[in-house]
Amino acid sequence: MTSSKTAQGTVWIREPSIVYGIEQPASAQTAPPSDGYAAFKSVGGLILNNGKVDKVLAQGETYRGPVDEVIDAQNLIVMPGLINTHHHFYQSLTRSIRTAINQPLFPWLTTLYPIWAEQHAQDVEVATRLVLAELLLSGCTTTTDHHYLFSDNCSNPIDVQFQVAQDMGMRVMLTRGSMSLGREQGGLPPQKVVQREADVLADSERLIGRWHDPNTYAMAQIALAPCSPFSVTPALLRDSAALAAKHDVALHTHLAETEDETAFCIDAFGKRPLDHLEQCDWLRPRTWFAHGVHFNAQEMYRIGAAGAGISHCPSSNMLLSSGICPITRLSKASVAIGLGVDGSASNDHSNLAQEIRQAYLLQRLTNPEYSHLDALAMATSGGARLLHRPELGHLRPGAAADVAMFSTRELRFSGAQDMLAALLISGAHQAQHVLVNGQWRVRHGELVDTDLDALMHEHNAAAHALWQRAGVA
Ligand SMILES: [Zn+2]
Repeated sequence: MTSSKTAQGTVWIREPSIVYGIEQPASAQTAPPSDGYAAFKSVGGLILNNGKVDKVLAQGETYRGPVDEVIDAQNLIVMPGLINTHHHFYQSLTRSIRTAINQPLFPWLTTLYPIWAEQHAQDVEVATRLVLAELLLSGCTTTTDHHYLFSDNCSNPIDVQFQVAQDMGMRVMLTRGSMSLGREQGGLPPQKVVQREADVLADSERLIGRWHDPNTYAMAQIALAPCSPFSVTPALLRDSAALAAKHDVALHTHLAETEDETAFCIDAFGKRPLDHLEQCDWLRPRTWFAHGVHFNAQEMYRIGAAGAGISHCPSSNMLLSSGICPITRLSKASVAIGLGVDGSASNDHSNLAQEIRQAYLLQRLTNPEYSHLDALAMATSGGARLLHRPELGHLRPGAAADVAMFSTRELRFSGAQDMLAALLISGAHQAQHVLVNGQWRVRHGELVDTDLDALMHEHNAAAHALWQRAGVA
């Protein structure tokens, strides 16, 4: 891992084909205007230094300062590194399990819980490495993860994930997930994977103390993330909110994902999901919910007024027949919205560039006003707003030097007039170059410092061993 730790010095990204993300948004609360990139196509380049964007050069302007490396970007589209706002890394070991595919959420979960219960800390380690590789290659530079599976087989998985992210140079906001409402108490998960509330809270506080960096440009942050209303007791929801407030960390959970979940909440708590969460003190600025498919209009305005946000996961919502997240209506209600790939058992990939295309196509189905640039904004500035990271999601001076560059020289883009639109509508598959915190993570389409064949071999072996232990091989 030598080069990932080596400072890159000053990098000049010279004369890019297009730069996205240097325009000033109309306000801090809104995405850039739909045609906002057009006026900024012709810039002389970007100067990166000391982990930040130092300068945006005008067209024809030459940089006079010392430069350690010049990237000729004439055939590259340059954009802020993409931000993934919802994932479950461990699920990459259970992609396309025959008994789980083609099922809706609840039976899909009850099929997979017993398999996930068999995972060990080494499985989480290799799953995290594999998924971070996949995300980086797709141009993602900041990711969250929601790990809520803890059992006697698997202690301290979050520490393992932080260590891997540090080794691979990925910027992360990991979450300490939890489940406390087992089948015996009327919840959905088996007893084997639920924890005592006191144990969850003690471990959450330990993890905040060990890993959370509250500063701007932080590479590692943590949020607290009880899993869902149907797997967590109201007491743990409430106590997690209090602990998050005490340490000023974010809160995350699944909410309003399916109609089954709404029916469960009405049956178990006598309330709709958002009312239940609000009563547990969750409607606050640092809360973001995964999915948000089934809110009514009044609920959307309450979320917006609270300053909370939504992670939109289009592939997962389609695959599990969950529904279509009304993101335009949520935006009009001032709800911050980011993009997420969701877990690798409900997508089943971790390619955030492809997810932009999915979001675009899914919204176009019912909303003719939705644009490809709206989808890109969700994966960049939207994610940054959702995670309260104003230094991410754009490339103006002072931004973190998290940059994704995509080649325009691919078969699928040939003949395109608007090349940025082509990248999103034809669909980008893989980034050409990626920097995180000013460090090269992908060069010429290849991950720095990682033998992908060896990694896939190890990951596949771990997956097969897991299925064996769970009796589904
Ligand atoms: Zn999820």
